[in-house]
This record gives sequence, structure tokens and C-alpha cells, in this order.
Amino acid sequence: MSGSLFALLRSRIPSQGKALIETPSGERITYGDMLARTGRLANALVRLGVTPGDRVAVQVEKSPENLMLFLAVMRAGAVYLPLNTAYTTHEVEYFVSDAEPKLVVCDPGRRDGLAPIAELRGAALHTLDADGRGSLAELAAAAPEAFEDVGRAEDDLACILYTSGTTGRSKGAMLTHRNLGSNADTLVGYWRFSDADVLLHALPIYHTHGLFTAAMTVMLAGGSMLWLQKFDADQVIALLPRVTTLMGVPTHYVRLVQHPGLTREATAHMRLFTSGSAPLLAETHEQFRAKTGHAILERYGMTETGMNTSNPFDGERIAGTVGFPLPGITVRVANPGSGEVLPAGEVGVLEVKGPNVFAGYWRMPEKTKDEFRPDGFFITGDVGMIDARGYVHIVGRAKDLIISGGFNVYPKEVESEIDLLPGVVESAVIGCPHPDFGEGVTAVVVKEPGASLTERDVIAALEDRLAKFKLPKRVLFVDELPRNTMGKLQKNVLRDQNKALYG
Ligand code: AMP
Repeated sequence: MSGSLFALLRSRIPSQGKALIETPSGERITYGDMLARTGRLANALVRLGVTPGDRVAVQVEKSPENLMLFLAVMRAGAVYLPLNTAYTTHEVEYFVSDAEPKLVVCDPGRRDGLAPIAELRGAALHTLDADGRGSLAELAAAAPEAFEDVGRAEDDLACILYTSGTTGRSKGAMLTHRNLGSNADTLVGYWRFSDADVLLHALPIYHTHGLFTAAMTVMLAGGSMLWLQKFDADQVIALLPRVTTLMGVPTHYVRLVQHPGLTREATAHMRLFTSGSAPLLAETHEQFRAKTGHAILERYGMTETGMNTSNPFDGERIAGTVGFPLPGITVRVANPGSGEVLPAGEVGVLEVKGPNVFAGYWRMPEKTKDEFRPDGFFITGDVGMIDARGYVHIVGRAKDLIISGGFNVYPKEVESEIDLLPGVVESAVIGCPHPDFGEGVTAVVVKEPGASLTERDVIAALEDRLAKFKLPKRVLFVDELPRNTMGKLQKNVLRDQNKALYG
């Protein structure tokens, strides 16, 4: 039997007439329609010369047809390579030269810019727009529905996802059919997804969260999705009565708690709210619970591994933690340098092993070797600890660690203290080049409107709470912190803006 992701999905189809996707504008795609549409697209791919193992690079707006294209690539046994729609032509050029796709699919507006790049690399170029129209859709419309799925082994490559890479070139994480299938299936069980579920899907699908954690999990449960092009708090509130579950990033929840429509009544029928991709502030978790009675379930994952840990479905969901390792996945904390495994309560780098862990970085064997321990654990680069009850806590990224005057400063510790101060909305602590200390601890703070807090006040308030070497040398106030579409704080942007702060 084929070990392919699509074979697994096919085995879970509840009935041909069941809705897979519905859109607010009334479009309805059943599981039967999905088979027909992906069959036509898979035939079109084959006609374009795509053979098993070939890469198909896709930079298009989110649409149901975009999801169909992903599934068609799986049926054809090829490798799906989604690209963030925010990437410039120059950036796409790097991905195309690195991954050497057989086919590039782009928005019609980008065609002219990408044509010379595709031509240079010998890739075919086709278009698909936000409404699912374009030259690829035309080819598919003319192709037959019937398609015999290409068999794949579980360890064959299914997708390459480039990491967001805030330093250096971004790397292509190679994900196998087993990685994707096992992880989504684990989530079906852990989060109790069934064919009765309707997920409000408001995440982009070029990223692991929207494509695998959300869409794949729903599909393996035989459930349905209410499909939004992007997150809009008014629209989400209005559509809540039609769904049972929502997966969001922390910024989505920040916007929802500010919305007057978020009430106990509006969410009474909801089964589950999950959050991930960036840390959810404990304050947001509490506000959400106070307004709705729901405890947001926070979980932790990454492009290279899919989901690693999750707060429990039934047990206590603890704000500020990412819960327990998922079934079949081992998470440990190690000394970043020596690799020595550390006991409960000690802070170190989080390492992961399991069927979810990727097969390495595309054409980077050395880089891949550096990021695995000899016993097969992947070194995530996230700094964290596991408490006595087994809950995993994330303290920050290893590369965000500040070394000031030879002392290690974990930004999260300083941020947590600053966030407690009256008048503070949130903060980010970074290291900026400093002539005496190597790096100077620097706090960037967002104040509540009208708060009279000054730099002096913040430092004075921290003086008896933190060791002197951890105290910010400067406190800067900003209107908001820079975040990307997944809600991830971009500390590299802050470091860049303030690199000359200490002369
Ligand atoms: P990506 O590969 O874009 O999904 O980014 C993965 C990174 O996002 C992880 O390595 C973490 O640093 C961060 N991340 C994901 N989920 C959480 C979470 N619940 N809390 C804190 N950080 C998270």
C-alpha cells in the first residue's frame, strides 16, 4: 500500500457529498468535488512534465484552488514548495535556483517578473489568481478528472518549506509523507477532531500552521472548513456561529479580545480555540477566558517538525506554557554547548525526536548535521525548560540570548518583569552592540494610551527585581512592535533599527 499523504487522506473521506470547504460568498467544495478538481489538476501537472519527486513552487494568493493544487501535487507524487506571497521577485529567484522546480505557479501579476527566472532555470511557469483562475486552471479545466494516484513511500519527500530565516539564507526543510501524515493524525486524536467539526480557517496556507496543522488535520478527520482569505476580526466574530473550532496566532486573539462581539454567548457552542506560531501572552489568555469561558489551547511547533507539544485537551491548560510532548514525540532540554541533557526546571535548548521531525535541509548536508545530535534529536534553537509537572515552557530563541559584560541575559525574564508594570502593554528586550559590554540590554516598550511611564520609571521599577547586569541600559518607547503575518515578533528588525544606539 502507498505510504503517501494522499492515500491516507483518501482513506478518511467521510462521503463524497460532505462539504470540505465553504466560503462566506457561498462557494461549496465537497470531498467529491475535491477528488474531481485535484484529478484534473494532477493530469495538468503531468501534461506539464511534472514527474514524481519534481518540485512544484507555488507563490499564489490563498484560495480553495490553491489547496486543491497542493493536494494535486501530492497525487502526482511530486514535491510541493509553497512560498510566502510577501516574497519579492529577487527572493523568489533564490528559491527557484535552490530548489530547481519543474513548474512555478504564480499570481498573474507576477508573471512578467518571474518569466525570465523560470526560463533561465528551465521551469515551466503558470498562473493562478485569488479567484482560482489563470493559465493553470485553464489547463486543468481541459484535463480529465480520472487520475491514478502515484504511490509514494512514507519516507519520500512530500514538501519543502523554506524557513523564515531571520539570519542568513533561508533553508528548505524537507518534509516527508510520514512527517506530515503522522503529525496531523496525532492532532486529530489529541484535539478530538471529527467529521462533525467545522474549522474557521483564517491562516495563510504557505506556512506549516495553516497548511498542515489546520487544513491537513481537518481533512484527516473528515471535517469541514469555513475558508477566509485572511483574518478579519469583524468577519471572524460574524462567522463564529457556523464553526466549532478556530486555530489562530496570538495577534488574532489580541484582536478578538478587543472586539465587543467576543462574548460568552457568541462562543458558547465552540469546541476549541488553539494558538501557536508565537508566544501567547498570559494576559491575552486570561482576558479571553474572562470574556468567553474558554481556555485557549496553546501549542508549539515549527516548520522543521510540525507540532511538538500541546496543552492538554482535557487537563489544565496553563497560560505561558506550551503543554506536553505529543504522543510518540520526545522533547528534552539540553545544554546548548555540551549537549548534556538537563533535569526538570533547568533552562537549555529544546531538542525533539519523533516521526514528525523533518528529513534535513534541502541540499545542505553540513547544516543538517550541525542541527542534529548523534542520537537523532533535532536541536530546535528554542530555549526552554520542562517543569516538574512535565509542562514545556519556552523562554526564547537561542539566538536572542543577550551576552552583556560576559553574563547571559534571557530576554524573556526581563520582558516578563516589564510587562507587569502598570501602563505597559508589551515589551521586547534585545541586545544592541555596546562598546563596553559587548551587548547592551535594551528594552523596547509599548505603553497603554495615556500612560505617563518614562524610561527612568521602568529602570527604577526593575532595580530591586533584577540583578544589575540584567537591567536595561536603555528603554525605548514605540507605538507597536514589528510582527510578521504569523504574529512572530521580529527582533531582528528591532536590533537593526537600534544597532547604533550605544555609539
Ligand atoms: P516557524 O518555523 O515559522 O513555524 O517558526 C517556529 C518557531 O515559532 C519556533 O521555533 C518557536 O520559536 C516559535 N513558536 C511556535 N509556537 C510557539 C509558541 N506557542 N510559543 C512560543 N514560540 C512559539
